[in-house]
Amino acid sequence: MKALSVLGSTGSIGTQTLEIVDDFPDRFKVVALTAGRNLDLLIRQIQRYHPEVVALADGELVASLRERLLALAPQERPARLPELLGGSDGLCAAAAWPTADLVVTGIVGCAGLLPTLAAIRAGKDLALANKETLIAAGPVVLPELARSGSRLLPADSEHSAIFQCLQGTPWADTARLSTGIPTPGLRRIQLTASGGAFRDWDAADLVKATVADATSHPNWSMGRKITVDSASLMNKGLEVIEAHYLFGIDYDQIEIIIHPQSIIHSMVELVDSSVLAQLGWPDMKLPILYCLSWPQRLETPWRRLDLTEVGQLSFRQPDPAKYPCMQLAYAAGRAGGTMPAALNAANEEAVALFLDEQIAFVDIPKLIERVCDRHRVDLKADPALSDVLATDAWARQAVREAAAGSAARPVVAAAG
Ligand code: NDP
Repeated sequence: MKALSVLGSTGSIGTQTLEIVDDFPDRFKVVALTAGRNLDLLIRQIQRYHPEVVALADGELVASLRERLLALAPQERPARLPELLGGSDGLCAAAAWPTADLVVTGIVGCAGLLPTLAAIRAGKDLALANKETLIAAGPVVLPELARSGSRLLPADSEHSAIFQCLQGTPWADTARLSTGIPTPGLRRIQLTASGGAFRDWDAADLVKATVADATSHPNWSMGRKITVDSASLMNKGLEVIEAHYLFGIDYDQIEIIIHPQSIIHSMVELVDSSVLAQLGWPDMKLPILYCLSWPQRLETPWRRLDLTEVGQLSFRQPDPAKYPCMQLAYAAGRAGGTMPAALNAANEEAVALFLDEQIAFVDIPKLIERVCDRHRVDLKADPALSDVLATDAWARQAVREAAAGSAARPVVAAAG
């Protein structure tokens, strides 16, 4: 029985993790849950999974959660209330909860950084969905992993595919995962991308893209932020940086290819020119399950892949002019140090403004580029955690200021 701490339990990754717990009640149990603001769902999860601890990002909501749990009818109330915690310290305590064996990081954005570090420092293995943490703070996270011996198992479908392919090589030495040491025998990674909501749009039409357009993903059902990142291909750019840190591979050896069917989840080319791929329906439960069961495989009744039903697998190069975020991510990754933290924070803030209908979709890359350009003079090549946090805060503020300036002059012009 593996005990899980599920960070971001009310989100897309969190709820899918809990569905796996439902599918394998004799294999997995939940000891810790964390959420942002969705108390309705969190209360249902507490009733169902009886965690030992529950933490809310917003500490002010803890009293209201307690009141609502106590107000439940006796037959609906858990026999023992979980310990209720709030704020960043509460999230960190839930991440490092002593009885947890594995921590699933389903918090969205850099808000997941401190809980992730808390889990690593407590020696927990992690199922990493919250890629923003590794992207912003790779140079801080990697040495912490090496010190604690924690394993960072990739839950992102592409990195899970690469991880699974590498299990079939003589170099399946997982101790190397996330150490920054190059994976031997690995010549190239090909990250597949669905192309997101706008894959069939002309680049010229993106100026008209609405929030509803950008949040309708053709293949995957995910949270709003990552769905917008998929539409801009920033998600794939972030995954390039994630792959660099996870597999110790140079940026020149990581390629992005558009694969509209999302059946091949990514590929590795080995030194003898052999290419290995991992295939499946686009369903995040499979890579999450692999993190939970690794190094074992568990039998599931889930829909089996039928390639005759798929019919065709197609591939094409992404158009850099249509997807400027992709190039911005490569450039930030190559610059290293605190630059990916600036890129990530600028993206989070710009996407939030877009979702709030304060800027246009095409303004997102312009704002990010401007912030990354400004950060060049302050870049710290070998950052401490405080440098990462300071860069994150600065980049958010820089985006907000640029957007506020748009009242006087359009953001597009200001950022362009
Ligand atoms: P969602 O938006 O669906 O869920 C986010 C979760 O984080 C919710 O539980 C939310 O709580 C919580 N949360 C929001 N803000 C904060 C905060 N400031 N502090 C603490 N918790 C917070 O996101 P996803 O599940 O889609 O994505 C989660 C992570 O997984 C992201 O990093 C994403 O890139 C990654 N990922 C997601 C995939 C997917 O299929 N969804 C695929 C691959 C990676 P609440 O809702 O209660 O406010």
